[in-house]
Amino acid sequence: MPDLKVGVLALQGDFEAHAKTLRHLGAEPREVRTSADMEGLDALVIPGGESTTIGKLIDSAELEPDLRAHHEAGRPILGTCAGLIVCDAEHLGFIDVTAKRNAFGRQLQSFEADLEVAGAGDEPLRAVFIRAPWVERRGPEVEVLSSYEGHPVAIREGSVLACAFHPELTDDPRFHAIFMAMTTAAQERAGEEARR
Ligand code: GLN
Repeated sequence: MPDLKVGVLALQGDFEAHAKTLRHLGAEPREVRTSADMEGLDALVIPGGESTTIGKLIDSAELEPDLRAHHEAGRPILGTCAGLIVCDAEHLGFIDVTAKRNAFGRQLQSFEADLEVAGAGDEPLRAVFIRAPWVERRGPEVEVLSSYEGHPVAIREGSVLACAFHPELTDDPRFHAIFMAMTTAAQERAGEEARR
């Protein structure tokens, strides 16, 4: 893999674990707090945490135009848990889904489950859910990669990959590997366009 520069939005939430997984996969992670940190990124992770807080911090850091420019340039984005909510139709609008917050209810605030995930191979993926959302509504372009009890919990739409669980909290890097494959493909496409 070329040296892919992957930003991890580091305003709030568990960004450090993402950086570790990305490094393990050979990428070069960079914590993003300001507009200058977005410069030259090949991809961006919006981590879990608290979606309302992350939204407010994006506003106060004036990062929304940079996030939009990144998305419009077709550079991949991975949104996990609160990051999925931040990307949904009612927030940044990067994916045509409506997330339901804290969807699993009081009894199931936090749990682990083995998921089948399209693109992650045959072995089930152990997934950690923490006050997780699920995808309540989705548009026609949204591909569901995994569901739990009938509710989509991992989706992809174009350059955006999102999941309701925390792939950074296990030792299994396969979900991030899907994201890195999207990033490599996006770079190759950009390179081909530049050569044309
Ligand atoms: N419940 C949080 C929210 O609604 C998300 C939780 C998480 O990211 N682990 O923003």
